[in-house]
Amino acid sequence: MNSTEGAPPEVIPARLLHGQKALVTGANSGIGRATAIGLARAGADVVVNYVADRTAAQEVVDEIASLGVRAAAYEADVSQEDQVVAMMDRMVQEFGTIDILVANAGLQRDAGLTEMTLDQWQKVLDVNLTGQFLCAREATKEFRRRGVVPEVSRSAGKIICMSSVHQLIPWAGHVNYAASKGGVLMMMQTLAQELAPEGIRVNAVAPGAIRTPINRAAWETPEATEELLQLIPYDRVGEPEDIARVVVALASDLMDYVVGTTLYVDGGMTLFPGFATGG
Ligand code: NAD
Repeated sequence: MNSTEGAPPEVIPARLLHGQKALVTGANSGIGRATAIGLARAGADVVVNYVADRTAAQEVVDEIASLGVRAAAYEADVSQEDQVVAMMDRMVQEFGTIDILVANAGLQRDAGLTEMTLDQWQKVLDVNLTGQFLCAREATKEFRRRGVVPEVSRSAGKIICMSSVHQLIPWAGHVNYAASKGGVLMMMQTLAQELAPEGIRVNAVAPGAIRTPINRAAWETPEATEELLQLIPYDRVGEPEDIARVVVALASDLMDYVVGTTLYVDGGMTLFPGFATGG
């Protein structure tokens, strides 16, 4: 196994996002949780969105508050328009504005094509794609209202869509999920094109296999991990912090000229490693 096993040490500059207000959806678990904490380490105040498990959301809030920045847990189902509108209104009221949206909430409802119910198809599209659309739309209204505040950031707002390697790699048995992430790619690029003239940066992060509850079956036994590693040239399963660090950098002015791009954070999964010896 790779000598870099486990997430690399914390290297987030402490004041990189000082004074910025971030909303992370689905922030009480996995990648969202690590991202919320990473943004806070970089100095941002953070709204921790959750749809279930308030206790887990409060734990993230408490951890963030211990870093000396502000945090609050807001309950909202990102697939419900009224709840997203209310969440954004509340954030603007209580935090003053929003500078960074991380549209992270997502789920899987796996089934082969002929076993997949319309509910399974629709649920995944509603949360993974429509949820990101609704959050991006509401955040953009506030970015536009506020405009650029040069002491805070060079851009008028940052939207980071949590996509997946499955915006590129087909995934048998997961057509709803792959279609939702393929949709995220084109939504992200279209919004980036539409909003860049206003100084709003839209980008995506596409994780490979990251150790979180969403894909527990893929890593929880040594046999499953071994099989999974066949797909990862860098030879380790990713950790939520691997994604969090990239989101922090992408949200910061260090990456001010990065617009409409997907950053694959996947240990080389999208290099199609089967072709290293075959093809
Ligand atoms: P996770 O299950 O730990 O986290 C998903 C979060 O989304 C949870 O907090 C869940 O409650 C929340 N959520 C689900 N439906 C919601 C809704 N309607 N409204 C608000 N929140 C909702 O899984 P994760 O791996 O941390 O996934 C986070 C994102 O990363 C997802 O978009 C997922 O598709 C993406 N992703 C994960 C991996 C991976 O290997 N873990 C790989 C590629 C992409």
